[in-house]
Amino acid sequence: MYTVIARRWRPRRFGEVVGQPHIVTTLQNSIRFGRISHAYLFCGPRGVGKTSLARIFAKALNCEKGPQVEPCCECENCLSIDGGNFVDVVEIDAASARRIEDIRELSEAVRYVPLRGRYKVYILDESHMLTPEARNAFLKTLEEPPAHTVFILATTEPQKIPQTIMSRCQRFDFRRISERDIVEQLKMICKKEGVKYDEEALAIMAEEADGSLRDAQFLLEKAMNYNQDGVKEPDVLQLFGIVGRETIFGFLSSIFEGDVRGGLSLVEQAIEKGHEPYEIYRGLVQALRKMLLLKVYEGPPPFLYISAREQEEMLRLSADHEYYEIQNMLFYLIRGEELMRASFPKLSLEVLLINLFNLSKIKDVERLMEELEEKGKGTKDLHGFLSFLQERRPLLANIVGSLGANMEGNRLFVRLEEEYGLLRDTDMKEELKACLREYFGEPIEVCFEEKRGAVKIDEYVSEAKRVFEIKEGP
Ligand SMILES: [Zn+2]
Repeated sequence: MYTVIARRWRPRRFGEVVGQPHIVTTLQNSIRFGRISHAYLFCGPRGVGKTSLARIFAKALNCEKGPQVEPCCECENCLSIDGGNFVDVVEIDAASARRIEDIRELSEAVRYVPLRGRYKVYILDESHMLTPEARNAFLKTLEEPPAHTVFILATTEPQKIPQTIMSRCQRFDFRRISERDIVEQLKMICKKEGVKYDEEALAIMAEEADGSLRDAQFLLEKAMNYNQDGVKEPDVLQLFGIVGRETIFGFLSSIFEGDVRGGLSLVEQAIEKGHEPYEIYRGLVQALRKMLLLKVYEGPPPFLYISAREQEEMLRLSADHEYYEIQNMLFYLIRGEELMRASFPKLSLEVLLINLFNLSKIKDVERLMEELEEKGKGTKDLHGFLSFLQERRPLLANIVGSLGANMEGNRLFVRLEEEYGLLRDTDMKEELKACLREYFGEPIEVCFEEKRGAVKIDEYVSEAKRVFEIKEGP
C-alpha cells in the first residue's frame, strides 16, 4: 500500500522525535515518577510533531510492559495505537467534531473505565476550533476528570483557548524545527529510502518548510515523484518556483557592489525565465536573512543550514557592512511585502531594489560618528591638546581645563582667576608653552584674560539701591 513519506517516517518512539527535547524529557519524567496530569495542552506551529508526540505518550502510558519511559512498539497495545484502532485512545478532530452532541458523547464515554489499556487517552486536535457550547460541555468534564483519563489538547492557536480550559492543562510549547535538523531528517529518509540527493536541494526544502518537518517531508515526496533518479537542486528550484542561488547572488552582488543597472536587468532576465516578481522578492528576503545571521553570529549559527560556498560569498559581499546596516535593508524589504502583493509587482520589485541600493549606501548614524571621531584623531585642536596635556601634566591640564580656554589662530587664551595667579608668574607658563609647541609643532602664544566675574559685593549693594530707589539715610 502506498503511504506518504510523512506517515511512513512519523516518529514512533520518544527517541525519534526531532527538535522538541524539552518536551520529551518532561513527559518521560512524568511517566518515570508517576506524575501524570489529567490534561495537557500541546501548542505550536503545524507539522512540528504535536499529534505524533501525543500518540507516543498514549503508547507509553498503555504499553503492556507497564507505563514505559519508552514504549516497546511491539506489544499488541502499542501496535494497535500505531494502527489507530486501539479502543482506549481516541483521536478527535475538533474542527470536524464541533457539535455539542459530540462532546456530550465524549463526556458520557469518559466515565467508563478503559477497556484494554491503563488510561483512556483523548487526543483533541485543533482544539481551538470547538464551539463555545462544546467547549463548555468539555470544561465540565475537565473540572472532574475520572482518574483513568488523560486529555491531550493540540492547537496551533493557543491564544484562542479560553483561560478556564488553559488553567486546567499542563502546557507545552512546541518549537519550530531548525533548518539543520530538518536537513538531517530529510537526509536520513533519503538514505533509508535508497534515494540519491543533492544536499543543496534538501537545504532549499528545509528553508521553504519554515520549521515544519511535515511540510518538508511533503516537499521531499513531491521531489521524489518528480524525478525518479534522485532529488536534485535544479528540479527542486523548478518544482517549487524558487529563484536559483546564482540569480539571487547576482542581486546581492549588484546591491552590495552598487551596480543599479545590473540589478534591474537581472530582474528583467529572471522574469523572462518565467519567475514571478514575488518569487524573486522572497529569494532576496531569504538571502539577506542568512547574511544577517552570518554577521550577527560571526559565522553560521547552529540552527542554520548554509553551504561553505554560500557562506564565503555572503561574508565577502557584506565585509564592509555592519550587521545593523543589513538589518535595516532586511527590515525595509519585509515592510515592502504589501507592495509586492499589490497590482504592479514588477514595478514594486524594481522600486524596492533601487531603494535597497540607496540603503546600502546610507551608513548607520552611529557608525558615521565613530568614523568622524576616528578621522578627528589626526587633526590638532584645543580638545586634542587638552587630552595630550592630561597625559603629560595632569595638574596643568586640570588648571587650564577648569579655568576655561579657547584658541584663535596660534594664540591660546586662558581666562585667569586670582587664585591661579601662579600660572602667570611661575614656570608653569613656560611648561604650558613647551607642551603647546610639542603638540602643535609650532610656537603658540599664551594670553591671559582676567575673569570679570569677581564683582565686589558692595557693587551689588549699590546696584540694588539704585534699582529699588532706596535712598541713603539722612
Ligand atoms: Zn508496548
